[in-house]
Amino acid sequence: MTAEEVCKICGLPKPSLCVCIQIEKTEQKIKIITEKRRYRKITTIVKGCNNGKNVSKQLKSKLACGGTFKNDVIELQGNHVDAVKEILIKLGYPNSQIEIE
Ligand SMILES: [Zn+2]
Repeated sequence: MTAEEVCKICGLPKPSLCVCIQIEKTEQKIKIITEKRRYRKITTIVKGCNNGKNVSKQLKSKLACGGTFKNDVIELQGNHVDAVKEILIKLGYPNSQIEIE
């Protein structure tokens, strides 16, 4: 009766089509880093997320901040380290795979 669950990251049905988490389960770690940029503004950087394009969309809408996705790196304006980790976990990424630097 219930429809197949849809992946929040890629929008494809789980587990038949979505491979986000399976890919992530290879040893790759997701790193959340903050960097000070021009005008001393803090940028939150998320590296190692496959499907980063969709993840960045989710992060931007949930955090209501500006950001970019380029060369597999998500950049978000402001310091959102803890919030990003929480959202990634909600999207299904394992806590053990997320590193904060
Ligand atoms: Zn997926």
